[in-house]
Amino acid sequence: MSTNQSRYTLEKYPPKGSKIAPCPVCGSQSELWRYSESKDSPSNPVVMCTHTDKIGPQDSLLTGGCFMSNPTDDFYKATIREAIEYWNSYAKALVNLRNSNEATK
Ligand SMILES: [Zn+2]
Repeated sequence: MSTNQSRYTLEKYPPKGSKIAPCPVCGSQSELWRYSESKDSPSNPVVMCTHTDKIGPQDSLLTGGCFMSNPTDDFYKATIREAIEYWNSYAKALVNLRNSNEATK
C-alpha cells in the first residue's frame, strides 16, 4: 500500500446552487476535483477543464489536451468555494479580455 501517491478525485456533488463557468479557453465543460499529495494529506479543491483530447497538431499524450485541464498551482485552493470563485473570476476576466481585444480589431 502506497501512502505517498498523489491523487485526484472528482467532486461529484459541488455545493448546491454553485455555478462553475465553462472553460474560458476551449469552452468545454469544467469539473470540480480534489487533489491530495498523498493518501493521508489534506485535499485541495481545484476546477479543471474536461477536454483532454488533442487540439490541432498537439500531442495530447504529452500535454493532456486543453491546458486548463491541468491548470497552474494558483487554481488549487483551500476550500471549494475559493476554488470555484477563482476559476469563475479567471474565466470571466479571460472572456472579457478576448472580447475587448476582438472589439478593437
Ligand atoms: Zn478547456
